[in-house]
Amino acid sequence: MEYYSGQINKLIEELSRLPGIGAKTAGRLAFYIINMPMEQVEGLSNALIEAKRNIKYCSQCYTLTDAELCPICANKERDNKVIMVVENTRDLAAYEKTGKFNGVYHVLHGAISPMLGIGPSDIKLKELIKRLEGDVDEVIIATNSSLEGETTAMYISKLIKPTGIKVTRIASGVPVGGDLEYVDEITLLRALEGRIQL
Ligand code: ZN
Repeated sequence: MEYYSGQINKLIEELSRLPGIGAKTAGRLAFYIINMPMEQVEGLSNALIEAKRNIKYCSQCYTLTDAELCPICANKERDNKVIMVVENTRDLAAYEKTGKFNGVYHVLHGAISPMLGIGPSDIKLKELIKRLEGDVDEVIIATNSSLEGETTAMYISKLIKPTGIKVTRIASGVPVGGDLEYVDEITLLRALEGRIQL
């Protein structure tokens, strides 16, 4: 028995595909959207389509951006010789919020996970190694302290060590398994400042 008409059901169905949105929340959101002024709905739907259409990888650090180079890589004040490796664009944003890191980033878009079948070639790792052919003094590995994050950190340090480039790992203090995104700025700063050489 269908409670709602086809288009309402369709909207609920699409919304419930989003992470963390169950059927109940999807229903609430759907009716909220239906009651929104038309221009707000158009604004939302245009933002979704434009973002999806125009957002791509930065050609240098692989973060998500709508330009050839992201604002950080395009900033001439940043120190290109220090590269911080993070798992995703949200982690980059978390470190950026501390305002204390003046180097550049490299976004892996994931972490190595043998259990999930994610190997080194499934993340932006060879792109990182390619960048190291340039003039680089230090690579700071800031992957999460989850099992996957640690596995990835170990793998990267083994790859980089023979090049003679300094490899460091952010200090623990970042909660184990914690998403970097949810760690406060002071903890991140401490983790960065207390990084240890691998
Ligand atoms: Zn970039």
